This record gives sequence, structure tokens and C-alpha cells, in this order.
Amino acid sequence: MLYSALMKPAEMSLPTSTNVLVWSEFRHEKANPKVAAIYPGGIHETIAAFLRRAGGLNVSTAWLDQPEHGLTADRLAGTDVLVWWGHMAHGEVQDEIVQRVKTRVLEGMGLLVLHSGHYAKIFKALMGTSCSLKRRESSDKERLWNVNPAHPITCGIGDYFEIPAEEMYGEPFGIPAPDELIFISWFTGGEVFRSGATWQRGHGRIFYFQPGHETYPTYHQAEVQRVITNGVRWARATVNLPDCCPNAPALESLPPDPQATVDHRLAGLGARNPPRQRRISSPIDGL
Ligand code: ZN
Repeated sequence: MLYSALMKPAEMSLPTSTNVLVWSEFRHEKANPKVAAIYPGGIHETIAAFLRRAGGLNVSTAWLDQPEHGLTADRLAGTDVLVWWGHMAHGEVQDEIVQRVKTRVLEGMGLLVLHSGHYAKIFKALMGTSCSLKRRESSDKERLWNVNPAHPITCGIGDYFEIPAEEMYGEPFGIPAPDELIFISWFTGGEVFRSGATWQRGHGRIFYFQPGHETYPTYHQAEVQRVITNGVRWARATVNLPDCCPNAPALESLPPDPQATVDHRLAGLGARNPPRQRRISSPIDGL
């Protein structure tokens, strides 16, 4: 009720369908034949393809080297969930665009941050911490334990699932305490990692999901696709509430303002005893 009283009709518009924008750097695929062989159309296209197959989602893509990184104000305004994959070029993302994405999250847009996106400017801006971690690109197997089986993001996932080869990410992970912990991973080398976690910032939901190093076929694995699809549906924007810091009219009759009574009395006194005119000199008097 409060928002309906304060918001203009245009600001209250709710999404009638889920518009998903999958963003990636699209650099490794052009520079490394091994990555290009795994993700011929780019990591973003592989992710977009399985999201499209899931149904009920309008999925488009964008990448770093497009004008405004493909993240124009109009495009973001029509996005309910943004999926972010970055790895080697976090520093090339313009600060202005980062602020634009952050504003949309605070308004209600969902955000999925994948793999090395833990170090993306947008994730660090929303977390407010270092977001650092331990890492090792080797021959580790990863076992992801489902520690939140009642959560929508783990729907269809059993006690755990395994990724045959992944980059090791280990604790300590420099994040604020998650609102919800979804997965804890174990790696062959012995480390553990909070590999699935959620936060809310403003009106937007954020899901960080660790798997997805570019030299492994991680995004072709069914369980990974299921988790990301669930995450997109969970993070879908349900409101779009721009920050307008409104001056709110009272909903009920207010008691008389006692200060107004005092002002009225002073006004009467002033009529009987008008103050003497007093001039204050200013620096421009001599001009
Ligand atoms: Zn990686």
C-alpha cells in the first residue's frame, strides 16, 4: 500500500515475462583455441542456449567489446535478470556502467555472478568487501554439496553432484556473510569453498555460483545448467522501484503543528514592534 501511494504508475510496472541478459567478456574464446573448441559461440551463447531450452525466459546476450559493453540504460531497464561471466578483463569494465548495473540491482533486477565474477567490479561494489579467495588451475575434481535442499535454486539437485575437472577456489572467501548458503564445495586438493550463496541488495536478489573456468566444459554439464536456470528464476525481478526518496503526504489527519502557533504569535508581536532595518555590508558593496 505504501508504495502504491508513493509511486507513479510508470514506476510500478511489474514484469509480465522474464527477460534475461547473459553477459560475458567474450575474450578467451577469441584468444585460446581450447576455449573456442568448448564454447564455439562464446560462453554467453552456451549459457543463453540452455536457458532458452528451459522455457519461459526471453534470453539475449551482450559482451564486453560492444558499445557500452552492451549494457545500455534502455537494455538494463528491460532486464529482469543479468547473468555475469568475467575473468581476464574486469578492469576494462567502465565504472559508469558498473554504477548503472548496481542501480538496477537496487531497483529490483536480479544478478547471477558466475565463477571469476567474484572479482568483477559489480560484485565487489555490491558486496563491499575484497571478494578474494584461493585458486588453483589444476586437475582437481569438485564435489558440490547441497546444503540448502529446500531452496528453489537446488530444486532437482540431490545431496551433491561432481564436476570432473574445475579450477579450485578455496576459503577464505572475502565476502560478507551470505543471506543463504546454497552449496559448499570440496576439491581433490583438500580445500573447501562456499560455492553457492545469495544476498539481497536493495530490492534485487544476487546469486553467486562458482563453477565455470573457461578451459573446462562446465557449462555443458546438466547439473550446472539446472542450478543456473533455477538461479535465474529465483532472482527474477518482482518489482522495479527507482530510488526517489519521496516527500510523503500524511495518510491521516495530523494534530496542529505547535511551531505554527508560536510563529503566529511572533508574527503578531512583529506587527506592534517592527524591527529596525539593519544593513549588513557585503564584499560587493564597493563595486
Ligand atoms: Zn577460472
